Amino acid sequence: MKEKPTKQEKIQANNLIEEVTEILGPCVKCGMCKSNCPVFKTIREESISPRGHSISLLNKKLEESLFDCTLCKSCERNCPLGIKICDSITKAREALSLKKKNTKQNEEMLKNLEETGNPFGNNPPKGEELFCC
Ligand code: SF4
Ligand code: SF4
Repeated sequence: MKEKPTKQEKIQANNLIEEVTEILGPCVKCGMCKSNCPVFKTIREESISPRGHSISLLNKKLEESLFDCTLCKSCERNCPLGIKICDSITKAREALSLKKKNTKQNEEMLKNLEETGNPFGNNPPKGEELFCC
């Protein structure tokens, strides 16, 4: 059975959602943040653009597509209001995690880390190696 959030986790998640709303509150939905977003440039869907995330989050909708963001901050460089879009996305992801709405891949990675200390587990895919910068 799927794990349910505790009362404390629900409170923490709601507090994070309030913080997200405060960060994005000044957004005027101009779309200037979209032009350099690598994810939007590849997938071409408004909902996964930084403006799309902003609109969804201001409506208190936490979509799984938040995990598609690379946190590269290109959007922040183009925002005329200096909105910290990445901060809002990381907080929203944390809220999703507290609400036990992690993606399947994240769940698997966490389980692997707990059990083996390796995000790929004991049987990493062939040809995949992790390098430290
Ligand atoms: S550039 Fe800034 S103000 Fe404009 S839509 Fe993006 S986040 Fe909102
Ligand atoms: S931080 Fe996320 S939303 Fe912003 S430009 Fe990069 S991928 Fe796009």
